[in-house]
Amino acid sequence: MHRDQRRQIIRQRYLSGELPPYSPGKAFGGMGAGRVCDCCGDVIDQRDIEYEIELPDGRQVLSHIGCWLEWAALTQHAAQDPDVA
Ligand SMILES: [Zn+2]
Repeated sequence: MHRDQRRQIIRQRYLSGELPPYSPGKAFGGMGAGRVCDCCGDVIDQRDIEYEIELPDGRQVLSHIGCWLEWAALTQHAAQDPDVA
């Protein structure tokens, strides 16, 4: 998936509330196991790194490492600029 396209999907999911705001919590990285990324909806295959983040409310989000970076950046940007949220 193209990076801009992926960013757009993450942004839409975030704005719709489907994807919660990121907050630092426990995170585990590992090899992809064919599960679906909660950020972009694509499968995380074995060539990718999957990242599992446990949010303070106990919710777990599975994502590509690249999606996690986009998601974290988006949340930080929104916190600094209320117009975006
Ligand atoms: Zn993803």
